[in-house]
Amino acid sequence: MAEQPFDDRDGFIWMDGEYTPWRETKVHVLTHAMHYASCVFEGERAYGGQIFESLRHSQRLANSADIMGFDLPVSVAELEDIKAETLAKSGLENAYIRAFAWRGSEMMGVSAQNNTIHLAVAVWAWGDYFADKMKGIRMTHAEWRRPAPDTAPCHAKAAGLYMICTLSKHAAERDGYADALMLDYRGQVAEATGANIFFLRDGALHTPTPDCFLNGITRQTAIKLAKARQIEVIERAIMPDELSTFDECFITGSAAEITPVAEIGEFTYKPGAVSEALVEDYSDLVYRKIAMPAE
Ligand code: PMP
Repeated sequence: MAEQPFDDRDGFIWMDGEYTPWRETKVHVLTHAMHYASCVFEGERAYGGQIFESLRHSQRLANSADIMGFDLPVSVAELEDIKAETLAKSGLENAYIRAFAWRGSEMMGVSAQNNTIHLAVAVWAWGDYFADKMKGIRMTHAEWRRPAPDTAPCHAKAAGLYMICTLSKHAAERDGYADALMLDYRGQVAEATGANIFFLRDGALHTPTPDCFLNGITRQTAIKLAKARQIEVIERAIMPDELSTFDECFITGSAAEITPVAEIGEFTYKPGAVSEALVEDYSDLVYRKIAMPAE
């Protein structure tokens, strides 16, 4: 059954200080963000009525805006309240939260110095990002590479950076895969199209150093959970010729959570004991059955 379109749903979206009925929450077609990708956003999940790592997501949104050269129209503390209130108003306990800010319509050109910065928060129900998550997803290789830090503002969670992610994900899906592994501008292993990546070899986890892509909040959480289990975590440059040497693989992201990977192109991985343990720990953590481990 097709998913209900995102512009045709019940409920309310918070935008620029008020709740508007979901179907009526609109922007003008001559919105700078739509033409020049001047938009930053967050993807978060709530579990049992509480947003996991809400403050860190709000801080990252403010930081992404700062990198893009604008200020959010509200403080981080106010954004925290808006997100919590929008979640409560949705009536959902387990939900996905999308907070986003963008340049409006006063100027339409590359320059948009005077444009109003808009802010919105929408909340919706969203199950697993991948079907059959615990079987391990099948990934292929992406044709697009993560750009160098002096080519794009790679530490902002900004809309423009997702152009190559959508291209890569569509190509993967066309070929029957769930996602794609992107290399970076140097040819090193980088990440999936919306999640970070980890590999297990000889009991230690290896993950690329996030120097040209997001150091995901889930990535940082997975590292803490692994360390709490006395699993060594090595952040380093990983070359594609190492892909054949790993036993397990998983990806991490607020939407993807911790998802085992069964295949990357010609390489296969076992959704094994370490991936399963961390999936379970992550679930216990987000539902507050265990506390966040120390750094
Ligand atoms: N990389 C990309 C490209 C992403 O879109 C995401 C999801 N925000 C991540 C990594 C993981 O980030 P997080 O764990 O903070 O959701």
